[in-house]
This record gives sequence, C-alpha cells and structure tokens, in this order.
Amino acid sequence: MSKKLFIETLGCAMNVRDSEHMIAELNAQEGYELTDDAREADLILINTCSVREKPVHKLFSELGVFNKLKKEGAKIGVSGCTASHLGKEIIKRAPYVNFVLGARNVSKIGEVLHRDKAVEVEIDYDESQFAFKDFRSSPYKAYINISIGCDKQCTFCIVPKTRGDEISIPADLIVAEARKAAQNGVKEIFLLGQNVNNYGRRFSGNHEKMNFTELLRRVSAVEGVERIRFTSPHPLHMDDEFIEEFARNPKICKSMHMPLQSGSSEILKAMKRGYTKEWFLNRAAKLRELVPDVSISTDIIVAFPGESDKDFEETLDVMREVRFEQVFSFKYSPRPLTEAEGFTDTVDSEVGSERLSRLQAFQDTILDEMKTTLLGKEVEVYFEELRNDGYVAGRSDNNVMIKVKGCEEWLGKIAKVKITEVSRLVQYGEILA
Ligand code: SF4
Repeated sequence: MSKKLFIETLGCAMNVRDSEHMIAELNAQEGYELTDDAREADLILINTCSVREKPVHKLFSELGVFNKLKKEGAKIGVSGCTASHLGKEIIKRAPYVNFVLGARNVSKIGEVLHRDKAVEVEIDYDESQFAFKDFRSSPYKAYINISIGCDKQCTFCIVPKTRGDEISIPADLIVAEARKAAQNGVKEIFLLGQNVNNYGRRFSGNHEKMNFTELLRRVSAVEGVERIRFTSPHPLHMDDEFIEEFARNPKICKSMHMPLQSGSSEILKAMKRGYTKEWFLNRAAKLRELVPDVSISTDIIVAFPGESDKDFEETLDVMREVRFEQVFSFKYSPRPLTEAEGFTDTVDSEVGSERLSRLQAFQDTILDEMKTTLLGKEVEVYFEELRNDGYVAGRSDNNVMIKVKGCEEWLGKIAKVKITEVSRLVQYGEILA
C-alpha cells in the first residue's frame, strides 16, 4: 500500500513551488502519494508563511486540529518560513510535531522524515544547485524558482531572516526545467524569486553569468514555451534594458507586479526600499509608454511607523497616477527579527484601519472606471481552470481573469476572446472562432 501525504500550503507562489518539490522528493524517495483527506494520511505537512502575524496564529490552531484527526502512527511536519524563524519552539508548543524543516532546507525532506524531532532551519544552507525531482500542481503552468533568498533589508520584512541571502539558480537548470515542462505540454512558465530582476548577482560555484533580461531571452527561446510570467521584480532594478525586453518580447506576458509599499519617499527611506516616489513613477510611466495595455499590480502597506496623513496622501497620489489593475494592501504588521519591530513612532491602529479602508475604496473606484474600457476588447486567453458553473476560466496576456461558457476541451488552449460583460474582478466573454 503506498503511503499517503496530505500537504497544506500557505503563503506565496514560492511556497507553492517548495511544496511541489517536497511532494516530488517524497514520492521519489519514499513512494508517498497525495491525498486531500488528512484523516487517511501517513504524513501531514503544513508549509507555512510568516509574512504577517495572522498565518502564524493560524498554524498552531491548525496543528491542534490535525493532531486530533490524524490516524494512528501518522506523522506531522512543519515547513516554510514560520518553521525557519520559530524552529524548535514549534515542537515545544506542539510536542506531537515530528519534524520542523525551514524554507531553505526543502531538499532535506526525505532525511528529516526518519529523524524524530528533527529541526533543520539553517538559513544559509545552499540548495540553489539541487535538481529536484519533478511534480507540478497544474498541467498548464510551470512555476520555476530562479533564486533563493533575498539580499534586501526592507525594515518591515521577515523574509531575509527566514529564506536567507540571495543566490541565483544556474541558468542551465532553469532552462532545463522549462524545456521539460514544455515537453509535457505546459505553455506558460512562471519564474519565481524574491527579486527576479536582481538575477545573476551571485551564484554558488562556477556558472554562466547573466542578468534577468538575458535569462528571459533564454527561456523564451525554449520550444513550446508560449507565455512567460514572473514575480516579484523589485522597482529598484527596473532598468531600461529590462523594460525594453519586457515590451519587445512577444512571449513575455504584459503584466508587471511592481511592489510600491508606500508612495511617500520619506516612508520608503524608513522601509529601506532603495527607491523614491519619483523613481517609481518614472518606471511605471516608461512601462505604460512602451506597453500601453500593460497591467500593473502592486503591494501597499499603510500605517507603517511614522506615516503621517501627508505620507498617506502621497500613496493615494501614486495610485491616482499609475492606476493599478490590482492592489494587495495591508495594514502594517510588526514582524519579529525585523528592524521596524523596534520603531516607536507607531500609527494608532484605528487610524491604520481607516486608512486601509479609504485606500481600498479608492482602488475600487479606479477599478470600476478601468473595467468599462475592457468591454468589446478582443484578447488572447490561456484557459487553465474548469469551473463548476459551466464555464472555463483563464487569463489574458495582461492578466485579466476571463470566463467563457465552455467545457474542458478548451483547457490548455489559447483562444481569442471578445469581452462581453465586465465586473470588478472577473470578466465574461465569448470565444471568437
Ligand atoms: S525585497 Fe524586501 S520585501 Fe521583498 S522579500 Fe526582500 S526584504 Fe522582503
């Protein structure tokens, strides 16, 4: 009887890819098969996120639930960013946990399984050259890590303390993964890194040196690859060469995630983001000039320590000028091990909540205006999801989610669609023959 693995993945796309790596290694080394029923699992694995306090709280309540419903002899493991920063504290608080595996130690999954109470959380462990076995959660899209860790020191962010310093993964490993995925019928490659456009600054060992723009060219030259997406680029590294390749290369999808965080240069300085409001606006303007239809999304933190009403207005200012197609917005959440955790000029929590809802309401008005321009537009959609309401769904080149009446025959195909109905989050259309 094959052993059963139940895995829950919290957080970002990099965690999704780390989970795929662990599933692949556990299957290849131990014969584990996936189950979506934790009660029948021989191993329950929670791949955690600690970018804000909430997911950490959620972890311990979930561990309690899994411990109650697990079957006789089943093991429980915790991996990911919360594993990195809490380490053995997790076993102290939840003694029924069998192992703890940090975000940068994924390749050790087979080993910790056989060492009860193992805690492997080294944040400078280097698995940048490890060729993981292959598993993909989607037959249509392939996530591929291009680097591990982050070299920035944004004062609000715990990632450098949980994922360690930045090391680029050798280009030949990345191109080989893209080739294999394309041979298996995947049309869309999604490149992942904390700062993808900082690629190539540091490799382990002697590898061909190249920057992100050259890597994009290499991946787009792989036969069968039709679409390339990536996240997350850093505004600081948005040089002209990168933006021009983004605009010129027909395989690069015209959607760009540009994490702003704040529109105030004062606050950006306190966050150690390394760029100013003016630089961000300049880069966004260059993008819109070269790619008028580009969709730009962003991350924004409100109520960062020291943020005044004027600073907050500057954030709304950038939103008014750039008109983002999507904004992921959050109220500042102090994180352990970060510089900002010690900042004393904190913003009153109610003021923070008020700013967050003002910002989100403002973004909704921008979205409502922008959506009307989509009506009647013809776009290329890559269908990836079969919905249970008689629709198939997919994304346009510039990342607009579109649903059309249809069945699984469209899955994995790219088709021209005319947008016939618009709403804030999902658009409806019909396939043009
Ligand atoms: S760039 Fe900044 S926000 Fe992004 S992962 Fe690195 S430290 Fe965190």
